Amino acid sequence: MPETNYLANPSLTLTIAFAAALLLSLLLKFWLSSRQVRHVALHRDAVPAAFAQTITLAAHQKAADYTLAKARLGLLEMALGAAVLLGWTLLGGLSALNVALMQWLGAGMMQQLALLLGFALISSTIDLPLTLYQTFVLEERFGFNKMTFKLWLADLLKSSLVGALIGLPIAALILWMMAATGGLWWLWAWGVWMGFNLLLLVIYPTLIAPLFNKFTPLEDATLKARVTALMQRCGFSAKGLFVMDGSKRSAHANAYFTGFGAAKRVVFFDTLLARLSAPEVDAVLAHELGHFKHRHVIKRIVAMFAISLAGFALLGTLMQQSWFYTGLGVMPNVAAPNDALALLLFLLAMPVFTFFIAPIFAQLSRKHEFEADAFAVAHTSGPDLAAALLKLYEDNASTLTPDPLYVAFYYSHPGASERLARMLPPASATLAAG
Ligand SMILES: [Zn+2]
Repeated sequence: MPETNYLANPSLTLTIAFAAALLLSLLLKFWLSSRQVRHVALHRDAVPAAFAQTITLAAHQKAADYTLAKARLGLLEMALGAAVLLGWTLLGGLSALNVALMQWLGAGMMQQLALLLGFALISSTIDLPLTLYQTFVLEERFGFNKMTFKLWLADLLKSSLVGALIGLPIAALILWMMAATGGLWWLWAWGVWMGFNLLLLVIYPTLIAPLFNKFTPLEDATLKARVTALMQRCGFSAKGLFVMDGSKRSAHANAYFTGFGAAKRVVFFDTLLARLSAPEVDAVLAHELGHFKHRHVIKRIVAMFAISLAGFALLGTLMQQSWFYTGLGVMPNVAAPNDALALLLFLLAMPVFTFFIAPIFAQLSRKHEFEADAFAVAHTSGPDLAAALLKLYEDNASTLTPDPLYVAFYYSHPGASERLARMLPPASATLAAG
């Protein structure tokens, strides 16, 4: 039998590398998920000693059951996601869609935009049943869902419309640049994409978010005075303090500090204000301010810029190789541009490979959370922040006993015991010993 020279056949090499990475990532995800399930189930019967005074057994078990239910749904999502990905790529789905649209519309910008739009429509239709199940069965069962089917449908229509109105012109612009600006198109496209993202940061809080939620100025005078004093103390000014009607959709609570320059605003979910005392709200806001003071937001944006640049440059090289298409199950167009095809294929295939470096970013994010916590403790109070976090953990049914390896791989926030241990004075450290 003759030996296959893989280097001489880059298309086959890519197919094998892609299939191997997909299989490996599935095995890894499955292993991590089963570790999490085992760990949470094992600790379901007793509240960890450190939280015995503050969390009831019923709340602890609800968190365990919610975590297990989400993990099971996650397995289903994972299997479906892998099957759909294979369908688009190696099994020829994207290629077939491309050919069908080519026969219908002929070569040109219309065909390319139709390919992007068709892909988006088909993908979200496939995801629909699981999305519905998650909202109306899983979240409903644990008392989190506050959405009616009508509101859900209105959201879907609105977000599709906004997505198309914003997405199609920017997609057309990038496709046009890919065709018109020569060998360095990726540098130009990257510049436009980054400009678009910065613009989105400015217009999202003021123009887009209000399409979905009502933002009313914070009226509680006591809280307003407290929050304003806190912000002055930390050297911040904001254009406004707002309350968002988060309870319209979900019982999960949150707060955020958003925007740039003059558009900066503080937003509290009504669910958060209903649950936390004024000093606790202060501590949660101080945590958010900590992210700004430590420049986490800027760092994240700079990192996004750098990663996108690398991505665009890589795409610029790959899309000129025929093996990039054939290796991933797509027949490239011969007499028509492959720009939209290459873009989609790249966005589909890349996450399979980048999954393995995800823990690096999760680790960085957890480091930032510790820094923001430390900032909040320095400017407000550790016990208040700890009390607020515990309430949020309880209300969101977040498990207090996650598997450490699962945390290391996926969690953007450190586990509860680790976090509380750092924010409480030594005298009450027994609370966080577990
Ligand atoms: Zn944070």
